[in-house]
Amino acid sequence: MSTQSFFKTLFLTELVQGLGVTLRQFLFRPSITVMYPEEKTPQSPRFRGLHAQRRYANGQERCIACKLCEAVCPALAITIESDVAPDGTRRTTRYDIDLFKCIYCGFCEEACPVDAIVETRIHEYHMEHRGENIMTKDKLLAVGERYEAMIAADKAADARYR
Ligand code: SF4
Ligand code: SF4
Repeated sequence: MSTQSFFKTLFLTELVQGLGVTLRQFLFRPSITVMYPEEKTPQSPRFRGLHAQRRYANGQERCIACKLCEAVCPALAITIESDVAPDGTRRTTRYDIDLFKCIYCGFCEEACPVDAIVETRIHEYHMEHRGENIMTKDKLLAVGERYEAMIAADKAADARYR
């Protein structure tokens, strides 16, 4: 062992230098910790959270039961059944998304030709009972109705990149 190494080991100089870096960060650098949930980080308009089904402004469901979202879903999380509605249009009689299977890839939203199924910014949700992981058509439409303004604004913000 060289004399230099011997003194370094004896006086723990490298350890003291390392602690100096820690102390400098601790005392003089601003904290970058986000105090969630009081503080939140910015979200992209493309954030992929809880799903929603949208309606047109006149209240008509956007979904035309084409099943493209069901076909493209890599997790097989979407189940659709359809029938002819009284007005002659094709509509879903069942539209379920299993949130336990979903991997939030956004493929369903990308595939939808009428912007019916979307993923919202909502990520703070939980389930307390068995079966709540299934987002039924009614639940999806309710989310869409409640957050339509936010969904439409996000779609508009993202439109110029498409
Ligand atoms: S986000 Fe992806 S995994 Fe989830 S339902 Fe849509 S296509 Fe399926
Ligand atoms: S949500 Fe869109 S892609 Fe899926 S069945 Fe309805 S119209 Fe087709």
